[in-house]
Amino acid sequence: MLTVNAFAAVSATEPLQATTIERRDLGPRDVLIEIAYAGICHSDIHTVRGDWGPQTYPLAPGHEIVGIVTEVGSEVTRHAVGDRAGVGCLVNSCGECTSCRAGMEQYCLVGITPTYAGVDADGTITQGGYSTHIVVTEDFVLRIPKGIPFETAAPLLCAGITTYSPLHHWGAGPGKSVAIVGLGGLGHMGVKFAHAMGAEVTVLSQSLKKREDGLRLGADHYYATSDPDTFAALAGKFDLIVNTVSASVDMNAYLGLLKLDGTMVNVGVPAEPLSLNAFNLILGRRSLAGSGIGGIGETQEMLDFCAEHGISSDVEVIGVQQVNEAYERVLASDVRYRFVIDVATMR
Ligand code: NAP
Ligand code: ZN
Repeated sequence: MLTVNAFAAVSATEPLQATTIERRDLGPRDVLIEIAYAGICHSDIHTVRGDWGPQTYPLAPGHEIVGIVTEVGSEVTRHAVGDRAGVGCLVNSCGECTSCRAGMEQYCLVGITPTYAGVDADGTITQGGYSTHIVVTEDFVLRIPKGIPFETAAPLLCAGITTYSPLHHWGAGPGKSVAIVGLGGLGHMGVKFAHAMGAEVTVLSQSLKKREDGLRLGADHYYATSDPDTFAALAGKFDLIVNTVSASVDMNAYLGLLKLDGTMVNVGVPAEPLSLNAFNLILGRRSLAGSGIGGIGETQEMLDFCAEHGISSDVEVIGVQQVNEAYERVLASDVRYRFVIDVATMR
């Protein structure tokens, strides 16, 4: 076992604090990564605060991880010491079900092993990237292309793939009108990807405060959802809406913005259930869908797409002592557009 520094929640209500956690001894197919940067996803906050159910503490969150490979097991072939490596939201899956065989490990029928707050093969609770090192089986380790600055690459492992995957799946591209709801960590990546894929992009944000940023990131249009005229002006306009909001929104209002056969994809996971009036689906043959992160192959494809198109995340790099303050700012929608922990401050 390797004892490493970590920054962890000790309960659902107290601030995160410095602690140590154990990493397993390297198995033949394992890779040891010295973590350089870890992004702060809103899911970290939902999880440690118990929004999605009770947790076992201490719990170190973090599933947007980049670092350097420092050791590999005897049978590892895909990664070598010195490689720039990434780890996202899952660290294992069954590998045999139809989803896994189709490269959609995130939809493993047996159940994935999440990077943190999951039960590992040995029965222990997985611990995430707010720590100095992580041990991961090689199939779940990504390669970070050289062209992407390291600190801006970390958020691609969750915020990036979670928006790339539905945009790609539902055909965002030339001639398609796409709305991104919420300009936070996921939302700002959604704008960049939808623009790079060639779609006409509209941001739907609570206010116009971040309008200039939205247009710089690649949006063609920007509307405030606090303005009731917005919903009338945009009725029936979009082929695809990707909702990244971390809180419950009025689904009926957003469904009304879809064209005939349009799709609204929910990627935000609010603590509260969603409710809708069925007529808002029936009138216009509209679809309401969900999408979860992405498969390992698709995540590598997304990273390569980022390198090719000069895309990365807009980040604010913080020291580990600022994590609790950063959580409050994320909850206040005051993030431009992802906090990333410089893990060197934990050594
Ligand atoms: P984030 O950075 O906090 O962004 C969420 C954005 O939603 C905010 O910046 C804000 O944008 C908007 N928003 C927040 N509260 C709102 C409210 N009450 N009403 C309307 N809009 C509101 O969060 P994130 O890290 O992008 O994550 C977003 C959600 O996706 C979370 O629920 C997270 O758990 C989930 N998630 C899902 C997956 C998946 O696989 N499906 C993966 C990762 C994360 P504006 O200021 O522009 O309005
Ligand atoms: Zn996440």
